[in-house]
Amino acid sequence: MRKKLHPDLAVVGAGVAGLTAALTAADGGASVLVLAKGAIDSSNSWAAQGGVAAAVGPDDDPSLHAADTLAAGRGLCRESAVELLTREAPERIAELVDLGVEFDEGLAREGGHSRSRVVHAGGAETGRRIAEVLAARVQEHPRIRIVAGKRVDSISSLAGQPVILATGGYAALWERTTNPRGATGEGLLLAHGAGAALADLELVQFHPTALLDDGFLLSEALRGAGATLLDEDGERFTDELAPRDVVARAIAARDGASLDLRSIERDRYPTLMATLARAGYDPADEPIPVSPAAHYAIGGIVTDLDGRTSVPGLYAAGECACTGVHGANRLASNSLLECLVFGRRAALAALDGETVSDTGSRCLTPSPDDGAALWRNAGLIRSAAGLERLLDAPSELVRLIARSALARTESRGVHFREDFPAEDDALAGHLVVHPGGDPELERWS
Ligand SMILES: Cc1cc2nc3c(=O)[nH]c(=O)nc-3n(C[C@H](O)[C@H](O)[C@H](O)COP(=O)(O)OP(=O)(O)OC[C@H]3O[C@@H](n4cnc5c(N)ncnc54)[C@H](O)[C@@H]3O)c2cc1C
Repeated sequence: MRKKLHPDLAVVGAGVAGLTAALTAADGGASVLVLAKGAIDSSNSWAAQGGVAAAVGPDDDPSLHAADTLAAGRGLCRESAVELLTREAPERIAELVDLGVEFDEGLAREGGHSRSRVVHAGGAETGRRIAEVLAARVQEHPRIRIVAGKRVDSISSLAGQPVILATGGYAALWERTTNPRGATGEGLLLAHGAGAALADLELVQFHPTALLDDGFLLSEALRGAGATLLDEDGERFTDELAPRDVVARAIAARDGASLDLRSIERDRYPTLMATLARAGYDPADEPIPVSPAAHYAIGGIVTDLDGRTSVPGLYAAGECACTGVHGANRLASNSLLECLVFGRRAALAALDGETVSDTGSRCLTPSPDDGAALWRNAGLIRSAAGLERLLDAPSELVRLIARSALARTESRGVHFREDFPAEDDALAGHLVVHPGGDPELERWS
């Protein structure tokens, strides 16, 4: 069959969220155009290591997965989103198996999970193995056309059809990051420029164990398998499986930390070990120097549980979206799951939805490099004095992040203010920014 030139749906982004949305819509009969600014294999999805959380073990249940997600989220999770995420998880995993993803035997245990419930593939190559299969199914699908190397710089250019943004997060804005360079939040600015609200921009997760040299991620799975964290005197100093924000701050409070992989089965992680060897380390012989790095953007484009933004015809899913599912701290391995669950739901909604109109959306300008300033002033430990320095930053997204972080005058989950070290019940809500407005607190159910 010839692929249609004018599709029924446009998907921006070819990570797990975009590929899932495209396949769902095309299987539902729609013709789909997928656009990605980078190569197909250059997304965060391809970099994901640890796995996907799902209550598939004999001792597990979606309600236990939901309870762990809510506990990590420190009172900010949208409970209806958590219920959907955890209930749909086993079915989404089964679909991946049907599509051809070969998961490893056994379930991994990761920080904040009360059960072993993380399905993984290729040791610590889960994202790549899933994305590879989804990309292959997309490329062979008769109703999907995929164009790599095509950066979308205005929503207006896609007017006349429903549009799903699946452009990923913004953690690569920080100087120290585990993310590929392309994760700069362009989808957020595209949506905001078209009138959509953004939320929770101050909530960015810092991964505790990135290689000190270059931010390469040393997966949580390693700590789950028994790797220990040592201080400069070679002593353990924290519970390695505590939530990420706790472990990250424990590391930041020390002069240096290293991850000891000597006692674990290193052969199970061939790619990680090969990367360490290339960087000049011998994990069989010495602990590896690590430090936190910006890792996951909880904030994003505000959507309902079916990916709808406040702009008719415009949907968002995956890391660029903010459903409220992660609250103030994402539970490990819930984000690939978010892409699968909400990517699919957004596609189903878009099939029946309105189209994007061609009025009022702004063009994206290249993002200036504010990485060092962000790392210094809006890193793991924040204060009003540092955040105020970002209010005149050249990048609009950086300014919005700073304004949201200033408005959250408390410490909660991943957001730590040394000038407001306690949680404040009055701030147990989402800070939402409408175009031209100040961050406003909303409570979502
Ligand atoms: C090192 C690392 C390890 C991780 N490990 C795990 C894990 O084990 N488990 C887990 O659940 N999560 C993990 N995560 C998080 C998870 O990988 C991401 O949250 C998830 O993959 C995001 O997928 P996505 O589809 O939303 O976006 P991405 O996979 O980032 O894809 C974004 C897509 O949008 C495109 N794009 C962006 N802007 C534009 C534009 N203007 N025009 C056109 N295209 C555009 C990009 O080219 C890309 O194709 C990890 C992340 C990293 C960085």
